[in-house]
Amino acid sequence: MLPAERQQQILIWLEKEQTITVSELSKRLDVSEMTIYRDIKPLIDQNKILKTSRGISFIRKSALPSQNCTYCYKEANTRHSMQIITVDQTIEHTCCPHCGLLRYGDIANRVSQIICKDFLNGTTISAQIAYYLIGADFHMNCCQPQAIVFESYKQIEQFQKGFGGTIFTFEEAISELKQRMKNPHTDHCSS
Ligand SMILES: [Zn+2]
Ligand SMILES: [Zn+2]
Repeated sequence: MLPAERQQQILIWLEKEQTITVSELSKRLDVSEMTIYRDIKPLIDQNKILKTSRGISFIRKSALPSQNCTYCYKEANTRHSMQIITVDQTIEHTCCPHCGLLRYGDIANRVSQIICKDFLNGTTISAQIAYYLIGADFHMNCCQPQAIVFESYKQIEQFQKGFGGTIFTFEEAISELKQRMKNPHTDHCSS
């Protein structure tokens, strides 16, 4: 059996049996425990299985961190979503830059990285170096007031010419959103 075949077999067993010990796997596959450890290493790295005190366990999809926005709890799997990686390595997702910036404002001292996607070309960029257009006449169908992310200053200026709004840097955008959220008569979070 090739390592990939053993990995496949291990996953099939684990899905049915939930937890199996390494020595049991080495018996069933007739290879050493060392080999089993080598086989399962990539599966652990891919978050498919987990090493526990009782052996190897299968990770059910529901056991993985949810993909809901940590700020407003809406579905966060959109192309506007932001990711916040904290100093203890948990990854938070937000539905849009609005929630990402406000969430960052709440937990700034625990954040190690905040990343988002450029609105126009979808490239992944650090949110801290991006520019934000707030108040533009363009609707992303997410939370209000919305912030649209651009990597390039030239492109955000061009977009602003067409759709209006005001350009902000990362820090400025956070305080602008907080300010606008405080005044319920102008804009408020649609969630
Ligand atoms: Zn949200
Ligand atoms: Zn949103």
